[in-house]
Amino acid sequence: MPVPYGAGIFKTAGNMKNNEKTNNKTNNKKNDRNNDRNSNRKNDRNNRNSNRKNDRNEDGNSRCSIPSSVKGVFDVAVIGAGAAGMMAAIEAARKGVRVLLIERNPAPGKKLATTGNGRCNFTNLDMEDLAGGKYRGENPEFAEAGIRCFPPEKTIEWFREIGIEPKYRGTYVYPNSDQASSVVTALWDEVRNSGAEVIFDTLIRKIRKDEGGFKAFAGKEADLSVVTEDKSGDHPANTEQTGRYCDFLLDIEGSDTVIRAKKLIIATGSRAVPKTGSTGDGYVWAKALGHTLVPQVPALTGVKCTGNRYKNMAGVRTDAKLTVKIDGDVVAKEEGELQLTDFGISGIPVFQISRFVAYALKDGKKASVYINFLPGISDDNEEIFEFFKKRAERLRNKEMGSFFTGLLNDKLGNVLLELSGIERKQPVSAVSEKQLKALGSLSCRFKAECEEVNPFQNAQCSAGGINTSEVNAETMESKLVPGLYFAGEILDIDGICGGYNLQWAWSSGYMAGRAAGEKTI
Ligand SMILES: Cc1cc2nc3c(=O)[nH]c(=O)nc-3n(C[C@H](O)[C@H](O)[C@H](O)COP(=O)(O)OP(=O)(O)OC[C@H]3O[C@@H](n4cnc5c(N)ncnc54)[C@H](O)[C@@H]3O)c2cc1C
Repeated sequence: MPVPYGAGIFKTAGNMKNNEKTNNKTNNKKNDRNNDRNSNRKNDRNNRNSNRKNDRNEDGNSRCSIPSSVKGVFDVAVIGAGAAGMMAAIEAARKGVRVLLIERNPAPGKKLATTGNGRCNFTNLDMEDLAGGKYRGENPEFAEAGIRCFPPEKTIEWFREIGIEPKYRGTYVYPNSDQASSVVTALWDEVRNSGAEVIFDTLIRKIRKDEGGFKAFAGKEADLSVVTEDKSGDHPANTEQTGRYCDFLLDIEGSDTVIRAKKLIIATGSRAVPKTGSTGDGYVWAKALGHTLVPQVPALTGVKCTGNRYKNMAGVRTDAKLTVKIDGDVVAKEEGELQLTDFGISGIPVFQISRFVAYALKDGKKASVYINFLPGISDDNEEIFEFFKKRAERLRNKEMGSFFTGLLNDKLGNVLLELSGIERKQPVSAVSEKQLKALGSLSCRFKAECEEVNPFQNAQCSAGGINTSEVNAETMESKLVPGLYFAGEILDIDGICGGYNLQWAWSSGYMAGRAAGEKTI
């Protein structure tokens, strides 16, 4: 069993709820003794209501209870206990400084636990062609320094040290347990071993830049903003340090305690799958602190296409080559197992190209995906036509309804016949060259008109984010705001499927943690 997340750390909202439940029971017993059933029921109702009120604020967010042990100044505060945040917290704490990791969820690694279909493809040994190939963004070369500094081989060794043995599937790397949950547990154990302190159920709402520092507030999501001056005028923490001012102040909703830190690592992820806690809060803070943002769009997701032909092909999986054209220009090519769905196209090759489609549609451009359903035969229209002519010759005693049998999935073949206007009953011997050409063209240049990409809720990651030209590629420190660091998906770097996004989280988290963990005083 994984270690309970509440153990050995600050009191969390979860603990608080239990205390309140105990109080309710005590009250109930009192009422029983009075033998007043009516008043008992009333009390039960009141208690339930008051519990709900206490557990949730007006916006439905969990209340958090920050214990008085959060005293003094933390050297490093890390917001977000996802892949990047846990790596950053561990590496910073290993430098011997005081680290606080803050997470809005009641437990760490909610998204990480779902990765790789629950198996966690945590890196990939193939790191050829990084900039623009494996990693995309406005400055994709930004990812190169991070990956060089903490490459897959080093990542695998790092994880072995904390108990995760690698399993290789080609160049793809998984934990030998094939359980993403084991990666979460091992990381969490290491967070605790490292000495980093952790608080859960704590939503940071606001970051304020103080005169010589910042201030972050936990609370309502509706008020995600940054202001530039500190109105508190109260910095008791300053006196506890060696004369240097405190850089960050974090106020927590439901508590008067102010958390103080000299450096801040924002590892709050993107907007992809918001139910995991990644709602894009970090973007708002970064922007208010002067950073520019590359627009965020869903990436690694399916594409909805126009027309109703897809319903008849839903469920088909077939090898295919995809060519993406934006306003007529080829912008990307991919090959792999395509999945046809009732809304359009999906599967790994579609995931890989979805960011290009998303940006094009966002900019009001026309995006089409040309699909070759016969990549093993040829990409060339003429060659496919010749192949079909020979096939028609061989199958001359059959009807056209059988033309694709054994060549393509039946459902797909039927749609191609229908789209080319060929009757199923028509004898193959009577098929014209024009008809075969039309069929060939549909088979290797099937045009899927893109309508929209699936939303953030269904996207494995987000493209866009913090403009990397404003961040030091060696340290992940902001070039605009000293002491502020970013790690993980919040940065404008999106990897392709295959372990690249987690590798980015490890590499950027590693660098941010080590750089922020350097003692500056
Ligand atoms: C279904 C799925 C499968 C995937 N599979 C793979 C895979 O096999 N391999 C791979 O490489 N990548 C995979 N990815 C992508 C990968 O999971 C992410 O890129 C990676 O987890 C991002 O890590 P992160 O730490 O930057 O962000 P996150 O994991 O999103 O962590 C951010 C954390 O910050 C917390 N947070 C946010 N706002 C606040 C706030 N205001 N206050 C306090 N806390 C806050 C969140 O609750 C969250 O825990 C997959 C993604 C999905 C959705």
